[in-house]
This record gives sequence, C-alpha cells and structure tokens, in this order.
Amino acid sequence: MKSRSMIIEPFALAHATLVTGDGQGTVLRDMTVKVGAHGRIEQVAPSIETSVPEEYHYLDATGRYVMPGLINAHTHLFSQGRPLDPKLATPSGQRMVARFAHSPVDRPYIMATAKRSIRTLLDSGVTTIRTLGDVGYEAVELRDRIAQGAMVGPRILASGPMLAIPEGHGAPLVALTGSTPDEARANARTNIEHGANAIKIAATGGVTDAQELGEAGSPQMTVEQMRAICEEAHRHGIIVAAHAQSAEGVLRALTAGVDTIEHGSPLDETLIGMFRHNPNALRGWSALVPTMSAGLPLTLVDQATTGITDIQLENAKTVAAGMVEGARQAHEAGLTVGVGTDSAMTFVPQYATWRELDLMVRFAGFTPAEALHAATAVNARILNVSGTTGSLTPGKSADLLVLDRNPLDDLRALETPSLVVAAGHPVWRPKPERFDDIDAILDEAFARG
Ligand SMILES: [Zn+2]
Repeated sequence: MKSRSMIIEPFALAHATLVTGDGQGTVLRDMTVKVGAHGRIEQVAPSIETSVPEEYHYLDATGRYVMPGLINAHTHLFSQGRPLDPKLATPSGQRMVARFAHSPVDRPYIMATAKRSIRTLLDSGVTTIRTLGDVGYEAVELRDRIAQGAMVGPRILASGPMLAIPEGHGAPLVALTGSTPDEARANARTNIEHGANAIKIAATGGVTDAQELGEAGSPQMTVEQMRAICEEAHRHGIIVAAHAQSAEGVLRALTAGVDTIEHGSPLDETLIGMFRHNPNALRGWSALVPTMSAGLPLTLVDQATTGITDIQLENAKTVAAGMVEGARQAHEAGLTVGVGTDSAMTFVPQYATWRELDLMVRFAGFTPAEALHAATAVNARILNVSGTTGSLTPGKSADLLVLDRNPLDDLRALETPSLVVAAGHPVWRPKPERFDDIDAILDEAFARG
C-alpha cells in the first residue's frame, strides 16, 4: 500500500525560466509547467496562456530556473565516494572484502549503503541512474520499490554484478566471472534472470585493482566472450556497457557489439567510424561515457592525499589522459557522448554529478549547454528511456529541477537545487550529505587542471 506521502498532488510551477536542455542552450521565459496526479508533465506553455486549476498547488517560480532532471549513466551504490581503502587494491584484500560482502550477514549493510547512495543522488538532482557494477541485486530491488511507488528515488537501470574474466577487473568483489563465451553468456543470463536491465562487461583491466604497470587498459575479455554477452542482452532489449581503457580494448568491445564504452581511450578514424555505425550494437551505434570525475582526481590530486600506489598512479596517468583525449575527439567528431561519474569510486561522491559536466567543459571542449544536453536528452537516448524522461515534454515523467541560478551561466548552480521532482514526487530544499574536505580538494585540483 502506498503511504500518504507517496500520493502525488498535482502542481504548477508558474512564471519560471525554462532551461530546455537542448544543445543550443535555449531558454524560455515566463513559462508554466503543470504536473498531474499521474506524475507526468501535463503542459508546458507561456504563463499568459495557462490557467491553473484550483486543485493544483500553485508554486510561484518567478526568478527560478526549471530544467529536466539529471541522468547519471555510470554509478555504483556501494560507497559514498570517500577514498577507498588502498588495501582493497591487493588481491587478498579484495578476496577478504568479497567474502564479507557476499555473506548473508552483510546484506542489510549493503542495502542500507545503496539506499543512502540513491537518496544522495536524488537530493543532488539526479532523477535517473544506471548502475554499472553492484555487489548483488540490491539495485534491482530498489529499482522495483521505486517503480512501484513504495519509496521515492531516481529511476534505476540496474546492472547487478559486472561480468569479468577470473581475477579480472571488478572480480571477485562486484563481478561474476567466466572463461569461455558460454560461461560469459550464462553469467549474462544469470543477471537478467535476477532482473537486471543493464549489463556491464570488464573488457580491460582497471586502475584501482591493477597490480602491474599497463594493466589498467590491457584487454581481458575476448571478442567472442563479449559477443556472447551482447547477443544475450540484446535478445532481451538490454544495452551493454563495457569498461574499456585502451584503444585495443575499445576496438574489441565495439566489435562485439557493446552499446556504451565506459572511460574510453584515444580514438582513431576506425574507432570513430565504429561508434557511428556499429552493426552489432542494439541500435546500430555506440556511445562514449568518459567518467572524467573518476579518472582525473587520481592524477590531479597529490598522491599523499589520494593514497594510491605508484603503480596505480602510473596507470591512472595513462588512463586519465586517454579518457580526456577520447572525450575531446568524440565531441569534435559529433559522436554520442553521455554523462556518467563512476560514483562511489575514490573522490567521486554520489552528490557530484554536476562536476562531470564541469569537466566536459573544462577539458573536453563542450559548451555548458552541450554538457547539460548530454546529461539529460542525450543520456536518455543512450539509456533507451527518451520516451519517458530527458526533457520537459508533456506526457513524459515529471523529472525536473528548480534552481535559483541559471546553470548555463555557472554549472555549479546544479549543486544546490531548491526543488527536485522525480516522477512527480517533490523533494523540497534537498540537503544531500556532503564532504567539504573532498570538495575543497577537487575544487583546487580541477581549477589547477
Ligand atoms: Zn564504474
């Protein structure tokens, strides 16, 4: 049964300035947005042409900015984004944590952490997320509870555990492992049977768990294994994301039919062509989700502060440079580039989605309008939810933010929404839990570049 607070009361935001979220930065003045009891946008029109029925809550939004809710296409829910314990980087440390994490004793802790993460994401203006590597199926459970109206939260596309090779990236903490195409397919099927509606592959090694120089981007999964996973996922209409941090890894993943490349590498003409036209991808094209929020702090923040090992630092330098270069090239070539932060990773707080937009502008050549567009309409298209969300369009879910300042003038305005609405559910004056120490470190590091 729905609790009282879960009932959506229709409301109107009157006299607002609309930041439409298109790539040109279109702004419409003195507009009224009506949201119905079904939680969808009913009308978006000039205030002068709009009448607000008496049963609607009337909210005067004079001087305020209304925009579509943010979408974060790459999240994890298992931590809040404070630096991870460096001990986690050793194989024995990971095995130890994995034993705890997968024991029944720790299930309530994992669920509580995941709930806290999605609450923070919502409070920071994120109304749709994709998880890409969960401990178990906690994100699936939360997705269903939110969709059923049992709790308020962002719309979730949930991956469950990643799919990796034995001892590969993410294993054993947040991955199912397999050595052959059949095993890879079976693991994909296991996730889908548990309700996953996103799939994540570890195509190459990663920075946080690399033990050797060069391991971060070295290919781990074969084309055949990834192809088997893509076939299984696509058969169910599910898109596949691949963690890929080298040109060879990106090439293999795209060849296999992966729909989104996470992190990325420098691109050449072949790779750019494959993003544009990828016959094995679900929609015939693939997108890049750079996640500079996760890559850059490791190289821009002092090693004494990050606590990473020398090997991690060297790997991080290569990976971060490739990530930035790839994002810049993809933008220049007009490829589909989405926004994801890799939240929960070291120095990637759950509330800091706005920072990725800022980094796209600072480092990858995006205008603020293009970054906002990527985090809304483009992300919706990438995640196959553009019929439901991503713009302020009548008929779509009422996923929106009210801001005191124009985010196109300063993306930091996104940091403190005065109202977040998720599927018609309002969150008034949200106060996401913040880490001032981490914010100060990141502000300084990114400004220095
Ligand atoms: Zn990730």
